Amino acid sequence: MADIGRIVHEVAQEMAAHPERGEVASYIPPLAHVDPGQFGLCIVTSDGVTHAAGDAEEPFSIQSVSKVFALTQALGKVGDTLWRRVGREPSGTPFNSIVQLEREQGIPRNPFINAGALVVSDVNLAGHEPRVAIGELLRFIRYLAEDETIVIDETVARAEQETGFRNIALANYMKAFGNLTHAAPLTLGVYFHQCAIAMSCRQLAMAGRYLMLGGLHSPGGARVISAQRARRINALMLTCGHYDASGDFAFRVGLPGKSGVGGGILAIAPGKAAIAVWSPGLNECGNSRLGTLALERIAEATGWSVFSPSGSGRS
Ligand code: GLU
Repeated sequence: MADIGRIVHEVAQEMAAHPERGEVASYIPPLAHVDPGQFGLCIVTSDGVTHAAGDAEEPFSIQSVSKVFALTQALGKVGDTLWRRVGREPSGTPFNSIVQLEREQGIPRNPFINAGALVVSDVNLAGHEPRVAIGELLRFIRYLAEDETIVIDETVARAEQETGFRNIALANYMKAFGNLTHAAPLTLGVYFHQCAIAMSCRQLAMAGRYLMLGGLHSPGGARVISAQRARRINALMLTCGHYDASGDFAFRVGLPGKSGVGGGILAIAPGKAAIAVWSPGLNECGNSRLGTLALERIAEATGWSVFSPSGSGRS
């Protein structure tokens, strides 16, 4: 078994000193002020032990990492009928691209690009006021993380509401194709608030345990989703979790992962670990630059890549 505690500390040390940290997202005004010098890392292993280092307790805007939890919630509500409204193929386009929607008649490629996540929010909104729908998602995440202190950063939510012109366009465009049930501002309200949830690496890694444990909340704990559904969400994270850099992430890291423009990434080593990294500086595709590098180092040191023959790794 690899010494996970040592790996976590060595990787955090290397990243803290790394000179090239990428650019923080500036199109959401509050994110532009986040200090790019920060780096946090937390790994929860399948026995429930956590290893954390760096700024692992610092809450950050989880942004698109929320799409994993929102998708889990939507699948719980409507099951496989969701796939009539959203695809399961990598998009090869940036997170907020509108071009594919025209060609594909308002059906987004996958639930992890913004258009697909808006459809997921629309499903989660059904039968609720927006405030209730977002409260339900927040409660779900708190339950997964076993942490009642997780909150929504209202400043971030408001800023997205005021400046999210592309998302507003995407929602209206899908409405024109009949793929949005609610009024666009209502669905957008749910989406913006889920993106504005703030979590630390420790909270995020804890919340991701169900994807490492075949759908169980915690080791030996209650079932959150079926094993098949956990496997499928992991498959979508691997193929679609990093927008147009999903192939590169699979190549470099080899783990299901979902990134957000706040600089967070949740990565899953099925049966082995849930990993959360955060560093606010992004690469040209909008994924955390040092977060990706850190995961590459961790995958290398542990042998956790899903493409390694089982048992061949160092763990
Ligand atoms: N709230 C962001 C947006 O919709 C999420 C993007 C991301 O994290 O990739 O633009």
